[in-house]
Amino acid sequence: MPVPRIAVIGGGMAGLAAAWELAPLARRGAVDVELFEASKRLGGAVCTDRGSGGIIEGGPDSFLARKPEALTLVREVGLEGSIIGVQRGGSYLLLRGRFRSLPAVGPSGLPTDVRTFLRSDLLSWRAKLRASADLLLPRTRALRGEGDVSLGKFLERRLGREVVDHLAAPVAGGIHLTDVDELSLRATYPDLARMEAEHRSLILGVRARAREGPVGTRPPVSPFLTLRSGLASFVEALVEKIPEVRVRTHTRVEGIDRDLEGRYRLQVDGKEDERFDGAVLCTSAPDLASLLPSSMDVWKRLLGQVHYSPIIVVGLAYREEPDRVPFDRAGVMILREESRVLAGISFPSRKWGYAVPGGGTSIRAYLDRRSTPYWMGLSDAEVLSRVGEEIHRVLGIGERPFYTRVFRHPTALPQYRVGHLDLIRRIKAEATLWPGVALAGALYNGIGLSDCIRSGRDGARAVLASLGQRPGATA
Ligand SMILES: Cc1cc2nc3c(=O)[nH]c(=O)nc-3n(C[C@H](O)[C@H](O)[C@H](O)COP(=O)(O)OP(=O)(O)OC[C@H]3O[C@@H](n4cnc5c(N)ncnc54)[C@H](O)[C@@H]3O)c2cc1C
Repeated sequence: MPVPRIAVIGGGMAGLAAAWELAPLARRGAVDVELFEASKRLGGAVCTDRGSGGIIEGGPDSFLARKPEALTLVREVGLEGSIIGVQRGGSYLLLRGRFRSLPAVGPSGLPTDVRTFLRSDLLSWRAKLRASADLLLPRTRALRGEGDVSLGKFLERRLGREVVDHLAAPVAGGIHLTDVDELSLRATYPDLARMEAEHRSLILGVRARAREGPVGTRPPVSPFLTLRSGLASFVEALVEKIPEVRVRTHTRVEGIDRDLEGRYRLQVDGKEDERFDGAVLCTSAPDLASLLPSSMDVWKRLLGQVHYSPIIVVGLAYREEPDRVPFDRAGVMILREESRVLAGISFPSRKWGYAVPGGGTSIRAYLDRRSTPYWMGLSDAEVLSRVGEEIHRVLGIGERPFYTRVFRHPTALPQYRVGHLDLIRRIKAEATLWPGVALAGALYNGIGLSDCIRSGRDGARAVLASLGQRPGATA
């Protein structure tokens, strides 16, 4: 009996997690696994830059402690001792020219404490008064049954527009790098829909949660975790431990089709034509749509309905500490009225304690989402010149950075727009036409690293199950 062959397409975190899950069977010779990655390096959106002599993440900089999948995999690859938490947390919001403290908020921007919300100078008294209408308003009609609504519209109706503009837009919009008026509540913050369903009012829901206290006896030391040597070390350690998986970087899969025997034919780099019995497809929607044959037109059309917007992150390292920024927080969120260039800034040297040679400051600047398509057409030098001017204006740093790097992500983050869950259900239904094929990655059940790792591992298990194999113990 020939050994079943499984292809993993895409070497981002989802593809690597799928390969990790398949590796024990490959080690036993029960399956043959090949991972294809189009670019020269593995990790996809994960890209750690060490060129400044310190660490600047060009993609994700952390994983959530409360979602177990990334932490579990970090432990499995043997990096538990390298985990670090946030050394300096919290953020400021730049509003009307002043750095104002962000009150305690959840990932949606919803305050987690009613008293600090009332004391916050981020909101006018009129806005605070308007928010109290939430106590009287009935449940959101659009959420009845399986209905969906945007996070922005949901919070605007319950708590007023200022809460959306000054809290949800910078916080949730910053995490998902999208417009909160388009962001699906069901797909991204189902807990808020549940809170409204249970308590009718969000204020009453927040109070009830505060009374219940944190779940579990030992809260994590830090809600965000990362690795001392950067997240690329996660990728490096993982790949090193799965030599039985054939990892082929700089190798683009150009097409996939099912032959008459039910095997999958991959066209690789325009020349090879390889057959596999199963595949985990871990690419973005446009990349996947371009691989599928024209006979899969419904699947391709549905993939075409997923929106992506480009992201640019700029890394800079300075010899000095910026004067104008208060030193007790990890970063600054910036409203669009304050800057058309920058949406947010974090200080890796403060947030994680990453050393900068000579003792200066490192900065990670996110460019404004709406202006990014324009910036994508400019050279790195032009982007850096404009970002440098803006950092000077906003933070008051006069000196020139001694190190700069521009990270461009054309399609790294899918936008979970209203109706996303329904769209994904239909995409997955089309994929069932191909037995032995699983879908994984940021597109499906969450954009965070833990979500992608879970989907990669689940995808690998599903492929194994359809081939009649049982997943083995991990490495
Ligand atoms: C700037 C930024 C900051 C983020 N911050 C955080 C954070 O702090 N915490 C967090 O949890 N998440 C964060 N995320 C989200 C998270 O990093 C991503 O959702 C996740 O890394 C995506 O993993 P993936 O494997 O699904 O896709 P990707 O990383 O996009 O990988 C897909 C891979 O497939 C390859 N590929 C595509 N087509 C082909 C083909 N035809 N043949 C072969 N290979 C192909 C691509 O080259 C790519 O390497 C951030 C994302 C970005 C962009």
